[in-house]
This record gives sequence, structure tokens and C-alpha cells, in this order.
Amino acid sequence: MSPDPSARPLRRQIAVEHPQFRLFRDMPGDYLAEEFLAHIRTTGAPESFPGIHPGPLDKTEPFRKLAAFSIDRMKRPDGDMAYCPMCHQPNKYLEGAFVYLTDLKAVAAIGHECAAKENRVAADKDYRARRDQRAEEDYLLANLPHVARKMAAIRAVRPAAAEALRVFRLLRKDAPDAVRQLRAIKQKGARLTVAEAIDAKLAEIGPSGFKGSSGKQTRDAVFGVLAGTTAVINDFNPMTELNRIEAVLKVFPECGSEDDALETICRMPDAERKWATIRLRQTDSDFRKFQARMADFCAFFTAENIARIDAWTQHPEHPSRFRITRAEQQGSVTLSIYSYEDRFRAVIAPVIAAYDAEWPAAES
Ligand SMILES: [Zn+2]
Repeated sequence: MSPDPSARPLRRQIAVEHPQFRLFRDMPGDYLAEEFLAHIRTTGAPESFPGIHPGPLDKTEPFRKLAAFSIDRMKRPDGDMAYCPMCHQPNKYLEGAFVYLTDLKAVAAIGHECAAKENRVAADKDYRARRDQRAEEDYLLANLPHVARKMAAIRAVRPAAAEALRVFRLLRKDAPDAVRQLRAIKQKGARLTVAEAIDAKLAEIGPSGFKGSSGKQTRDAVFGVLAGTTAVINDFNPMTELNRIEAVLKVFPECGSEDDALETICRMPDAERKWATIRLRQTDSDFRKFQARMADFCAFFTAENIARIDAWTQHPEHPSRFRITRAEQQGSVTLSIYSYEDRFRAVIAPVIAAYDAEWPAAES
């Protein structure tokens, strides 16, 4: 059997004409994309990457995307753009894709909009899916071994959350008037102000001085900004916040080491791996939010803040005055609020400030 050259498919001929391009039986791993990107960074010339398919390629040549890249034009010897083997055009592109040609078993660099649309869309989708999967695996690998320490962090801050919740509920129950007034302040930008009448003699100078009580001229007496408004919002439940985080963490198996984690990740179907990554990431931001709310809640009870509130409510023209006092003994703060409606007194345990447990969050 003598081979008939005219019967050979075009691809074989290219292979013969350019024997220098390298064959890859399977899609090459990340190492090759990294080598390619390094080559582009130094030379700006995808054409000269060792073993690359020189083209020409058919527009519909099937491929999988290995990397996206952009070329720094200043790096190119002639300052031109790269040759695209799929358009068969020199000076064609700066934004490209490094691809694996699945039928030709070779790698090539093509302009990012050059392939037939259907192939390009499919390759992009596949590329994104692989990239997402890699990111998820990396995240889980770094974070699954920390689940046990995150559970420990939750346990460590529970007493602080329990004390905050107790005080929050007591405020609502025993100081409803003060809470209502302070919530109104929060809704108006948290500035503690009292509208006070301008001196009658000054007011008489202007025509509005004769308008009677409804047209009374006033100005705002300002006592600063109310801190710790979390203490007066409608709904604050740090215990529920912790329970939600813990419920997510409990779903994950104990992974003492990276090897354990790797085994767990490998067993996960795609959807489960995606879900696990989202939920586990969520615990990081939820715990940060928990701490921020606790810090804000505690800020309500500082000596400075209580003094501001007291000055505000003691103003002679405050429409509905109450007494608020704070005493501190051996780290415990005693807060009292009294008015016609309110009878509040609480000794706040120092443990309320212990919401600062170490939360291991490995980003990858
Ligand atoms: Zn092209």
C-alpha cells in the first residue's frame, strides 16, 4: 500500500509542513498555560511560543480554552499586533486565547473573537466552569481544615452574645419610652438635638415673633451623635446570628488536615462543591457582621455616649425627659433609665465585650 498524498486530509499536510508543532494527546495542564503567559509577558509574541501550532486553522476548528491573555504592544519587535492563525491575518489581535485544539492535538493562540461563534461560546463556557471549579476547590482546600476552629470561635463568643441579647431585651421591656425616643433620633441621622425657642426679645425683632406659639422661632441645641444605635433598633438577635453560622458549619465533615479536605472535595458533585463554597464563604462575612453589630451595641454603653444622651434629655426644653445614669464598678456597668414610663436597671457583665474570637479565614 503506497500512500496517496492527495488523499491525506489537509491537517496531515500542515503537520508535515510544520513538523515543529508539538502534539498533546490530552489537554495539557495548567503548567503549559503558565509557561505560555510567561512567554507573552516577556516577548509579546505568541507566534514564537515553542511547539505552538502555526496555522492556518479553520474557523470551525474545535478547541478548549486554556487561558485568556493580552499582549503589550510595546513588547512586539515591530509594534504590530499578533498574527491570527484562525483568520490567517497578520497584525490582527492583542486580546487572545491560548487554546487546545482537540482534534489536532495541538495548542494555538488565536484572537479572542476569531473562532466561529458557536465554538467560541462553548469554549468560554467550559473555560469559566473549569476556572470556577478550580477557585472553589482552592477555597475549600484552604478552609475546610478551619471548620473546627470556626466552631470553637462561635462557642467562645456565645456568652457575649447572650449577655447582649439579655440587655437588649431588657431595654425594650423596661425602657420603651427612651428606646422609642432614641430610635427616632437614629432615624433622623442619629444627631441628638433639642429644638429650643430663641430668646423672646430677639424673636420679637422679626415679624414671626408675633405668630404665637405655633410660629415660635427655634434653633437646634446639639449634643453630638448617638453611638451604638444597634441598642435601639427593632430587631437585634446576636444568638440567632451565631446559630445560623453554626448550622452551616455543622454540615461540613471534620477535616483535620489538607489531605482530609482534599478527599472530601473530590467526593463532592459539582453542585454540592459550589454550594459548599458559597455557604462557607458566607460564614466569614456573617461572622464579621456579627462582630460589627456587637461592637456597635457595646458602643451604646460607653461613658461618653451615656453622658451625651443624659445632656440631651436634661435640656429644659426636651419634650419628654428621662433620667439615664451609668456607673462602673470592677468592669461591670450599671445602667439605669427612669421616666414616667420607664423603670430600667441592668448590671451589664464585662463578658459582653468578649466577642472578638479569632476567626480563621484563609482566602485563596
Ligand atoms: Zn483571528
